[in-house]
Amino acid sequence: SITIQNVSKAYGDTKVLHSLNLDIHEGEFVSLLGPSGCGKSTLLFCVAGLEEITDGQILFDGQDIAARNPRDRNIALVFQDYALYPHMSVRENIAFPLRRQKIDAETIHGQVNWAADMLGLTKLLDRSPAELSGGQRQRVAVGRAVVRNPAALLMDEPLSNLDASLRVHMRTEIKRLARELGLTVLFVTHDQEEAMVMSDRIAVLAGGHLQQFADPMTIYRKPSNRFVAEFIGSPT
Ligand code: ATP
Ligand code: MG
Repeated sequence: SITIQNVSKAYGDTKVLHSLNLDIHEGEFVSLLGPSGCGKSTLLFCVAGLEEITDGQILFDGQDIAARNPRDRNIALVFQDYALYPHMSVRENIAFPLRRQKIDAETIHGQVNWAADMLGLTKLLDRSPAELSGGQRQRVAVGRAVVRNPAALLMDEPLSNLDASLRVHMRTEIKRLARELGLTVLFVTHDQEEAMVMSDRIAVLAGGHLQQFADPMTIYRKPSNRFVAEFIGSPT
């Protein structure tokens, strides 16, 4: 589980997150939804330990993440541009997080094959990223993130570079993978439809303030304020 308690974040004098509280349960799929500049990526980076928070606490399975070495956090990240290493094959890209951990070659081989099989990449393992489509590259990035068997997966608009039909397909794929692996997922998007179809719960942010945190149907039917209603497109 991930617990975000009274978390604030400022860059210099500019406050971008205002005392946020969110509890994400084990195995839950939570989306952070809000317009550009509302603080979604900042919050994700704070949870990943890539940005320091100004105030509050972030707990991972009850433990303060600030006290843990980033390498021991067992949190995997997929960014919007999911940069792959261009000089490495698909196999080497997926294996990369394991190579840094001094794991034996046979175990790495097994884990990479497992991830590739799950993501339909088995036949592409010897290609280079330049020889893949956007959707295939995106799956490699997901493979690289899950190959270590992380407890939590943080994704920052991973589908925004894909065309509409591929985006819809990948929603289902990511959802299925998360369920199969029992992953706790924090998924950033500014696409309300994406959040509605993928999430167990949605956290709506605006201007660094949490507007509502509830399941998709509640958000749609009972938006807590006008901003949420308009952003989600609730019936009036
Ligand atoms: P988008 O949907 O466009 O990715 P976002 O919700 O992810 O937006 P953030 O990237 O979290 O938004 O940015 C939140 C606010 O913090 C913005 O106003 C942004 O300009 C500001 N900001 C982000 N990073 C920095 C930084 N390193 N220094 C100063 N301000 C920053
Ligand atoms: Mg962002």
